[in-house]
This record gives sequence, C-alpha cells and structure tokens, in this order.
Amino acid sequence: MFGGDITGRHEQLKAEVREFAETEVAPRVAHMEATGAVEHDLAWEIARRGWIGITIDPAYGGMGAGHVAKVLLIEELARVCGAMGAAAQASQLPVAMIDNFGSEDQRRRWLPPIAAGDVMPTIDVTEEVSGSQLGGMQGRARRHRGGWVLNAAKTHVGNSHIANLHCVVARTADSGPGSLSAFLVESDREGVSPLRPPVPAMALRGFSFGTVVFGDVWVPEENLLGADGDGRDVADSASVLNGRANLGAVSLGVHRATVETTLAFAAARERYGKPLSELSSVQQRLGQMVSNMMTAQTVLYTAADMLDRGARCDGHLMNAKLVNYELGTASAKLGMEVHAASGLFTDRPIERCFRDAHAMFAPAGTSDVQRLRLARLALGTGQPEWSQLFAAPTRAAVPQEVG
Ligand SMILES: Cc1cc2nc3c(=O)[nH]c(=O)nc-3n(C[C@H](O)[C@H](O)[C@H](O)COP(=O)(O)OP(=O)(O)OC[C@H]3O[C@@H](n4cnc5c(N)ncnc54)[C@H](O)[C@@H]3O)c2cc1C
Repeated sequence: MFGGDITGRHEQLKAEVREFAETEVAPRVAHMEATGAVEHDLAWEIARRGWIGITIDPAYGGMGAGHVAKVLLIEELARVCGAMGAAAQASQLPVAMIDNFGSEDQRRRWLPPIAAGDVMPTIDVTEEVSGSQLGGMQGRARRHRGGWVLNAAKTHVGNSHIANLHCVVARTADSGPGSLSAFLVESDREGVSPLRPPVPAMALRGFSFGTVVFGDVWVPEENLLGADGDGRDVADSASVLNGRANLGAVSLGVHRATVETTLAFAAARERYGKPLSELSSVQQRLGQMVSNMMTAQTVLYTAADMLDRGARCDGHLMNAKLVNYELGTASAKLGMEVHAASGLFTDRPIERCFRDAHAMFAPAGTSDVQRLRLARLALGTGQPEWSQLFAAPTRAAVPQEVG
C-alpha cells in the first residue's frame, strides 16, 4: 500500500497524531474557519510535543524520526485541519537551514530549544517584489558594529505571528550568485516589530502567514547562517529537501479528507431511491479520486523514504510537491461535483478542502517551478542535487533564479 518504508514506529506516531488532531484540533476548526483566528496555543502545543523537531538528531534533543515520519505527521494534522498541517511544516522547514548550514555552535544553541518546543522558527524569504525569483529580493543587510543591520519586509511568512525566531534571507551584495545571505533573528530584537496585522485569507484559515518587518534590526556576526553569500543555497536547499515534501504532505492530508468526506456523502445521500454512490457517474468520480490519492501518496512516501536513505532524490521531492498539488486539486474538484450544490455551503467540509487544496500551489515552488526544475535536472542543466551535496556536504554557489 505504501511507497515508502512504513514501520511500526511510523504507525505508532501516525496514531498518536491522529488522536491529537481529532480530539484537540477538530473541535477548533469551525471557530478558525468562521473568524480566521490564529490558534497560538495549538501551534505551541504541536511544538511542545517535539513535533517541530521530528527530524532533529537526538544528539540535539530531537526525535530523529526522519522524513517519512515527518510527512505522516503533517499529513495527519492536515487531514483534520490544513491550517495546522501548514503551521507544523512551516517551522520544520527552517530546522533544515540550521542543520545544514549552521555552525556547531549554532546547532547547539538553536536545535535543542526548537526540539523542546521553546523556540518556534520561521523561514523569511518571500517579499512583495520577489517570490519564485529569489534574486529579485530587495531586503538588505549591511555590516555594522561587529554584526549586521537588517532592513526587509518579508511576506507570507509561515507562523509569522506566532514564532520567536526568524531565519531571514537578505541581500548583502548588489548582484551575483553570492549576493544573498541568511541570518537568524530573534523576534524580540529591537526593530522586528510591529508585525502587520494578518490580512484575511480565503484558505488555511487559522494559519498565520503574514508579513514580518525588520527595520534597522542589528544582529551579531554569530547570527549569520552559513558564510556571507550562502543565502540562496540556504533557502533553496531547505525548500527542496524539506519544503517540497512538507507541502506535498499538507496536500496529501487535505486530499485524504476530500476523499473521506466525499465517500461518506455519496453513501449517505439518497437519489432515485438509493444511495448516490450507486450512480455510475458518481462511482467514476470516486474511483478517480481514490486513484489520485493512491498515486499522490506513493510518490510522496517514496521521495521521503529516499531522503531518509540518503539517496539522490531532488527530482522525486519536486515531483512529490507537483503531483500532490495537481492530483489533490483534481480530486477536490471531483469531490465538489459529487456534492453538487451542497458542496458550496460551509456546513460541509468539502468546500474547505477545495480552498485548502488550492492554497498549496505557491509555497515551496509553484507547479511551473517544479516542472522547470525537473526539466533542468533531466536535461543535465540543473544545479548539483542537494540530496547529494548533503550526503557529502559541499557548499556550492548555485546560479539559480527560481525557488
Ligand atoms: C500557504 C503559503 C505559505 C507560505 N510560506 C512561506 C514562508 O514560510 N516563507 C516565505 O518566505 N514564503 C512563504 N510563502 C510564499 C511562497 O514561497 C511564494 O508564494 C512563492 O515563492 C511564489 O511566489 P509568488 O506568490 O510571489 O508568485 P510568483 O513567483 O510571482 O509567480 C506568479 C506566477 O508566475 C509563475 N512563475 C514564476 N516564476 C516562474 C518561472 N521561472 N517559470 C515559469 N513560471 C513562473 C508562477 O508559477 C505563478 O503562476 C508561502 C506562500 C503560501 C501560499
């Protein structure tokens, strides 16, 4: 049934997360949907359970459970609430930035409190003027008094209004492959606030992905992540190695909810004196939805499993994001068709699934970007694969314009 290697330990974690999601998260979904309120305590509870540190090495206090475990965790949260799946993955992503590019001192300083749920990090890359095109960013850091002064406004930052550590990528030179650098910025540094109030979103209601402003924020040299000029690599490697599978897992959780709620609806609703599920047009749609979900799951679990095994798998990770978004939204449309008019109203979960499925298009690379990167890999014109570089770490400068 599974594309990856699912062990008893994975099943145990999955059951634990499912129970948390169904008992602690599910009762809050209606409130989040109605108000868009950000559930700070739920996000922190996820952190306190050690789930942000699920891939962190036990030597730094983490669970060390790997990437298959991580996608199962995100999927189970997203099955009940896309917003909570998105919240968990958003802070798991910067863990990779610290783990792959941090010095030993930085790993010792930041990974244990993240694993313990005392620190919640964000990844702050996107700006109003630059999304997929990392090189278009304008936020700047300049050397000053033994450190750096940062000025930037970062948009759509996952957990923007909850987190207390920001992993910020900003411009440190005018142009060239080494013109961006990455910084760890504590949220209580002078100039980090105010956060702009969140703008209501059509989907993932309850997830905070707003703007964080850094106005003349001074950070010491020890907060530079990697070397000066490594910013593009810090961002891209985390996005490829963690972001692709993480967002694929949110899609898969929403996909599972889409299939489950549509099957239940079709079995319960009566038309022509029998359940709707007996109509062949409905069965065709249900069968296609199940097929979509099985394919999406296999592609995602296989990619995560390859990453756990240290295999070369950048393409598989990109494909996992692409396939999970594309097939998840295709199933959401089929599910809406089975529900017909009933699907349009907020008393049924399908309309939330439809909106949340679409929300996965942009983060960690749109479908256009995944296809572009897959083509470059196939043509041999892409960058060296991150999954290979981090098996035998090399800090290559990468001339790449898409994220
Ligand atoms: C739920 C969610 C969570 C997010 N979390 C974070 C976060 O935690 N931190 C963060 O920094 N950002 C985050 N983002 C922002 C996300 O990374 C960007 O939305 C993404 O990089 C795309 O940028 P954009 O939205 O500006 O679209 P653009 O890049 O402007 O794209 C617009 C259109 O042009 C197409 N396009 C762009 N470039 C190319 C190309 N080279 N070839 C072909 N087509 C192209 C796109 O496919 C799209 O259709 C999040 C976004 C969402 C929706």
